[in-house]
Amino acid sequence: MARILLTSGPTRQYIDPVRYLTNASSGRMGCSLAEAAVAAGHEVVIVSGPVTVTYPAEATVHWVNTTDEMLAVAQEQFEHCDGLIGVAAPCDYRPEFVQGQKIAKTGQPLVLQLIETPDVVATLGAAKKHRWVVGFALETEDRRFRALVKLEKKSCDLMILNGPEAMNSEENHVEVLAKDGSVVATLEGSKPEVASQIMHIVDERLIQA
Ligand code: C5P
Repeated sequence: MARILLTSGPTRQYIDPVRYLTNASSGRMGCSLAEAAVAAGHEVVIVSGPVTVTYPAEATVHWVNTTDEMLAVAQEQFEHCDGLIGVAAPCDYRPEFVQGQKIAKTGQPLVLQLIETPDVVATLGAAKKHRWVVGFALETEDRRFRALVKLEKKSCDLMILNGPEAMNSEENHVEVLAKDGSVVATLEGSKPEVASQIMHIVDERLIQA
């Protein structure tokens, strides 16, 4: 039995009190992985951005809005976990300044200065010590190469590669990549089916290793 930390869903970066930047992540893959991990007998801690999916009742859920919040809560929780599955799609940018009042239209273009947010998986990966880390990579070109670069950069033990068709979909098609560059598995099916096969590989290669 392992204690698994899952980051899931999108994050939001506010521009003003009512508007924000985000992406189309539904949290479905995170939810399916949480269900698969619970079914495999593991304890699951989820740090999730705003989603409408219902996480399994057995999991502990910490709700966050921004990428910085996701990182802060995930760092706290990672201390008490055996591994991380980073399936969230955190916003990579945030406005440099958040306007205190709703931005009014002026008839002119609006220029937003965006700065990078921290990478949750890379930050936790760099401090993982004895713990294992599984990342996700959504790529549209040079898929396998880019995913392997991320695996290395983010100190992951496994990288799950999927395409843009995974976003907000019921189905998924993924490749599971290992540190040595090998393709451990090619998985296809509904997100719950793919998630339980991913959990099986994580169990075999990282938890029972
Ligand atoms: O670089 P890219 O966003 O494609 O990498 C995807 C992986 O990195 C996923 O595991 C995702 O959860 C994680 N990530 C993160 N924090 C970010 C951006 C991505 O943890 N700010």
